[in-house]
Amino acid sequence: MVLSFLFACHWLHREVHPRYFSQVAEVMDRPGHAKWSSLLLMICTNPLDDASFIGHILDRLVETNAGKAENREKIIGDLVHKWRGLGLYATTRPLAVRQIGAVEKAVMQDLGGPNDRERISRVDLLDDGDPSEPFFDKMALIPRMACPQSCRHCMFVWRPPMNNMPDAGPLLKSINRQTSNLLFTGGDLTKDLNLFYHAIATMDRVETFAILLNGLWACSQTAADHLFANLRRSLNRRPSFFSKADVLVQISFDEFHQEIIANRSGDLNERIPVAHIARILIAGAGQPHCQVALIHKQNSLNFSIQLFQKGVFGRLLAELEQQGWKMEDIHWQTSPRLKEHPSQPGVQGGVIREAKILLRGPSVTTTVYFVSSCVDSLGRAELLDPSEYVCENLLFEDWVHGRSPPMDPFDTDPMLWRNGNVTLFGAIHVWMGNYFVEGERVFSRWRKDPLRVALGRLDRRLLVAHQAWNPQQHQRLMQTATSPHSFLHGMTRNSGARLFITQWLLENRDDPSSSP
Ligand code: SF4
Repeated sequence: MVLSFLFACHWLHREVHPRYFSQVAEVMDRPGHAKWSSLLLMICTNPLDDASFIGHILDRLVETNAGKAENREKIIGDLVHKWRGLGLYATTRPLAVRQIGAVEKAVMQDLGGPNDRERISRVDLLDDGDPSEPFFDKMALIPRMACPQSCRHCMFVWRPPMNNMPDAGPLLKSINRQTSNLLFTGGDLTKDLNLFYHAIATMDRVETFAILLNGLWACSQTAADHLFANLRRSLNRRPSFFSKADVLVQISFDEFHQEIIANRSGDLNERIPVAHIARILIAGAGQPHCQVALIHKQNSLNFSIQLFQKGVFGRLLAELEQQGWKMEDIHWQTSPRLKEHPSQPGVQGGVIREAKILLRGPSVTTTVYFVSSCVDSLGRAELLDPSEYVCENLLFEDWVHGRSPPMDPFDTDPMLWRNGNVTLFGAIHVWMGNYFVEGERVFSRWRKDPLRVALGRLDRRLLVAHQAWNPQQHQRLMQTATSPHSFLHGMTRNSGARLFITQWLLENRDDPSSSP
């Protein structure tokens, strides 16, 4: 109980603006019980060190139960020791974010360094006996990584600056030959929309042009309409002998992007307002060859249809209603596996992961797609409380123990950065070469690279290889990974690990005993 109070005090300080301390603390009070919120508030507004805090709570407990404080100092010492052992709130959030950012910076600055070049040179020595150019399910272009937001679930804290980039033309040409599905992704792409329009108008073989946007730009209905008018114009510029093309506008929409946050003086605002999302849906409705999809992150609401009534969805419905629009006829699908409820430990259930929603307006009806996926505890998301998101810890356990659960593949399709780096969808740090230096040769590595192939197959021998690289790091990652995919992502962050594991896979190619 004492440590729960200590936790509550730290939590209040980190997560709640002082203006709302009392409203939040009041949830602790239950009729007929002591009013603990007043004590918590008193301590929170006059911060104490952990030992003094524990002393206060102990005294209050003794007083409430009309008991006597025996061994008070020893109990306090034991509890402080226990608290420190839990490792909770050991650093402030800004410091923790800086530490995560410093690691990310080191990982990104090592991209394409000596270890990666050595790894790639070993891959180039291999012969897969197939000289044909690969064709991919999809490819991505990252025009930039920057984003002015700092969503708490974002997998990035530090992003490589990408200024004065070379002409993207050669990248688009290469993509045009190797896939029919192109995704523009990265950070906030508002400044790169002209390149997206250009891609739509000029890439003759691509049939689906997708772009992931956070909705920041839709600050007025005119701005939202403007984007779709430009998309329409770009599609119309395609000559008739080009393949037929569609555009998919993917909009981030969840409790994190639309989180209600307090500014310095405690005024509440949505990070990216729901009104922006409503404008985009309205602007996209009925546009020929354009589809809007809401891209969502799973949380405890995903366990029932309350997902479509409460939280961020509830606010979106209200906003749409004000504009004379309605969302109805929701057809959803749940995940093929049970997942653990984040705020009810031990409770498992299916989660809603996809839906088709009918959006009905005054003169047009359209379908909106909804896709909801897990958050992995990566980047800034490492600091999320486990109760805030659905993770795949059950799947991870099944995978580690070889129970072959049904799961999405690890995505190893190519991501081309505007600066020429080529990496993987599922692990932005697995460097396959630099297009501006090596040209098409980069893609010849897709079939040959044993690391890429093993990742694509979610090959469990990677567990053995990673352990052989560094047992301590392996142990740590096994404890913190929230899914097989986050394990494989974390495992490949170190360039030394990428090199070692590639070599290990080459040496153990035909050895069945190398399976865990
Ligand atoms: S989650 Fe998206 S909008 Fe939020 S900080 Fe990351 S890139 Fe920006």
